[in-house]
Amino acid sequence: MEPVLLVVSVSAAAAAAAALGVLPLIGRETPPATWLGWANALAAGMMLASAFALADIRISPQTWPFAFGAVAAIVFVHATRTLSQTEELRLNLLGEASPEYGYEVLLVASLHSAAEGVAIGAAMATSAPFGIFVATALALHNIPEGTVLAAVFRSRGVPIGSTIALAVVSNLGQILMAVTTFAIVTASPAVLPWTFGFAVGALAYLVMGDLLPESYDQIGPKSIAFAVILALWAFALLHAVLLP
Ligand SMILES: [Zn+2]
Repeated sequence: MEPVLLVVSVSAAAAAAAALGVLPLIGRETPPATWLGWANALAAGMMLASAFALADIRISPQTWPFAFGAVAAIVFVHATRTLSQTEELRLNLLGEASPEYGYEVLLVASLHSAAEGVAIGAAMATSAPFGIFVATALALHNIPEGTVLAAVFRSRGVPIGSTIALAVVSNLGQILMAVTTFAIVTASPAVLPWTFGFAVGALAYLVMGDLLPESYDQIGPKSIAFAVILALWAFALLHAVLLP
């Protein structure tokens, strides 16, 4: 398969995985808040593990460009949130009826998934097996993230079919950024350490800033620690299977 087609395929499969996260909400409009806490903590663990894999010194040996890339990501994510006036937005409000809230949550989810696309594109540019591994990990993490997004939309009365479509649409940025990053890095390999740094900085920022804070209220620190460790273990298992 053409390398670019492979990038499109794996990132599209990862985006589509979000639809699986909607399945627990069939026939249920407002799930318990604890569901969201567990889903966010599992997604956070998988994202942290993906960031850890990209920060591996054997893959990213140029530490300064990596560090600058990571700082640039934090500035970039912060700037996009400030410009879109979603910096203070709470992402897990169930039953929030204001018309603009749905659009704001969708925008933040799209920016979030675009950052993950950078991770997939950079990993694919390193090697196809490593790229498929990172894309599979992020596909698995898109499932609980799909559950959280679906819970917000279902609690607003959005029908299940539209909710599935929204969960997948919120991940289209993942495909776009995976292909763009892959093309840029393939054309100019010197930017790879910057790109890895950017992906790791963005993933870490989103975990710490978006996924975990609300789950502290929903399930508390002990459950979060358990869920994150469970996700890390699943990630290690995936590594053993895909990259023996
Ligand atoms: Zn994510």
